Amino acid sequence: MSDPYIDFHCHLYKYGAREISSFIERYGIKIVGVSDDYRSSIEMLKLAESNRGHIVPCVGVHPWTVSEIENYREEIDSILRILNSNPDIKCIGEVGLDKKFVPADAYGRLLESFKIFVSYASERNMVLNIHAAGAWREAFEVVNNSGVDKAIFHWYTGPLDLLKDLCSAGYYITINPAVKIQNKHRIVAENVDLKCMLVESDGPYKYRGLNLDPPMIIETIEYISNLRSIEPKDIVSSIISSFRHLFQA
Ligand SMILES: [Zn+2]
Repeated sequence: MSDPYIDFHCHLYKYGAREISSFIERYGIKIVGVSDDYRSSIEMLKLAESNRGHIVPCVGVHPWTVSEIENYREEIDSILRILNSNPDIKCIGEVGLDKKFVPADAYGRLLESFKIFVSYASERNMVLNIHAAGAWREAFEVVNNSGVDKAIFHWYTGPLDLLKDLCSAGYYITINPAVKIQNKHRIVAENVDLKCMLVESDGPYKYRGLNLDPPMIIETIEYISNLRSIEPKDIVSSIISSFRHLFQA
């Protein structure tokens, strides 16, 4: 297996070509690359095209973008046009809800936008790459009520009882390298069923002095291995089989 590691949530289009090839060739990382808007969705598709087999592109409009731009409906329509003309795309993201970083008066438009992507994913049996900061239960309910089979809740910091429900519904959560300094995330890593657990970098992103980049998923797997007393190779093989289930690759 040429790419033993998989980063399930990375804003890959923000990196330069040299960095991207180092993630793939030097570190052996396969990357699920999320988008933030129309322009980055197009860039992600180009990157996936030129790095076939190493990058899985997700297209979408980030909830922060939805809250920031006036013409968010047009932005969503342009993503739907990309999806309609590219039946090979397997993933929609980063999409979702937010009750932590976005002003409360924007929640209505976030919900409206998220529901459009969720119902599209449900019809085409696509994977959703979801942001749900402070709105974990709300996002889970939208997804679960729409009959979506495949969803990744990225950097999960929600309650443990909901984590059980997510996992029983067949959904996944990602553990971010911030696990080593973020208490509530470490508690998630201690408790999540291995079969529902993936890893991610959310790179390039800065969190309390940590520069999050894809190679950090390797030390994250080590960290989880120590935390849970599970061999790294068992974590890696569980993650690879989850990847196959999600993307049939
Ligand atoms: Zn993200």
